[in-house]
Amino acid sequence: MHWMVRSAGSFPLYVDSGKGAHFSSIDGHSYIDFCLGDTGAMAGHAPEACVQAVAARAAGGVTFMLPTADAAWVGRELTRRFGLPYWQFALTATDANRFAIRLARHLTGRQKLLVFNYCYHGSVDETFITLQPDGRATPRAGNIGPPVHPAVTTKVVEFNDVAALDAALSEGDVAAVLAEPVMTNIGIIHPLPGFHEQLREITRRTGTLLIIDETHTISAGPGGCTQLEGLQPDMLVVGKPIAGGVPAAAYGFSAAVAQQLQGRIQDDESDTGGIGGTLAGNALSLAAMRATLEHVLTDDAFRHMIELGERFEEGVSAVIRQHNLPWIVKRLGCRVEYWFRPTAPTNGAQAAAAIDVELDRFMHLAALNRGILMTPFHNMALMCPATSAADVDAHTHVFRVCVELLLGLRE
Ligand code: PMP
Repeated sequence: MHWMVRSAGSFPLYVDSGKGAHFSSIDGHSYIDFCLGDTGAMAGHAPEACVQAVAARAAGGVTFMLPTADAAWVGRELTRRFGLPYWQFALTATDANRFAIRLARHLTGRQKLLVFNYCYHGSVDETFITLQPDGRATPRAGNIGPPVHPAVTTKVVEFNDVAALDAALSEGDVAAVLAEPVMTNIGIIHPLPGFHEQLREITRRTGTLLIIDETHTISAGPGGCTQLEGLQPDMLVVGKPIAGGVPAAAYGFSAAVAQQLQGRIQDDESDTGGIGGTLAGNALSLAAMRATLEHVLTDDAFRHMIELGERFEEGVSAVIRQHNLPWIVKRLGCRVEYWFRPTAPTNGAQAAAAIDVELDRFMHLAALNRGILMTPFHNMALMCPATSAADVDAHTHVFRVCVELLLGLRE
């Protein structure tokens, strides 16, 4: 994978096998896994219910281009969690975002998308745009082979900048805002009080659809921030962990969007393209989604995971306080990370300015050498249902050791 060239150390670990919150490498070392496949394995590795459901489904056929009964169960469960009544399936959150954007364009007749500076929503072409300090929108550095200049397709404003959002949407040419409810990919950035109400009011007033991407923010609880904060998106995307790591994603619509769509999709043209995919919604994805949502990432499991997230946050905070470091810890439910600046950033540019690649690599590698895998590039930790208090305390100990190494307090 291309991103591995930026990771700490000169080679990646090769995995032998994983179970719960732990895995072993092919050279026989054991690790506590706080990376959990960068959310893809937030259900833990090889949860028993998924293993059984996947084995049973594999024995009964994995893909038919037809729905199975699991589709109806999963649809109802997603409605219970996120509130939206209609759902379609994809194989990745990237694709689910792509399809939601296309449907938003189809419905509104508008071409443009609006995203927040330093967002990440998968490899969606339209989202790789950066806001420069002078207000210009430019291609995001590092994006490989962009098809057109992103300003052709996209507007970008800072997260929490309501005035800029209002001005950009008031021009009436934006099909949809695509947003994480709490930014996670440039570190956790919480919305300021009232931001979501204003985002919803402005999008409604300007006829812009609101797509909320809960792929990472599902760490906040069983129905992500949408359930927790009572958000009312027109469309919602969720992927990564919802099938216990088996490729699967879902995108939901409000009743109003579903109704408009029904009037705008022509039966005889429906096989042309734009959304879908041969394996989307396949029987294996759906069986794994059902097992994960019914038995693994349950409401009870989230209570346990979030409690451990709090424990992780307290442990790291205590070390930061003890050594008076200019760092902070940020948490969103069972997702916790430490950040090398003394105060919480409120937008992507502030967060990006605090990135310290060398320090980040040091902390990541020093932890790895002591049996702890963190998520690379922003030292983020996720708790899964099988994570234990002892796992969290082991991290706190290693974090303290790494800090003391850094400060020259130990060899
Ligand atoms: N949405 C968000 C918020 C993400 O963080 C990511 C990936 N990190 C995606 C979508 C894309 O997920 P995938 O790579 O599984 O397509």
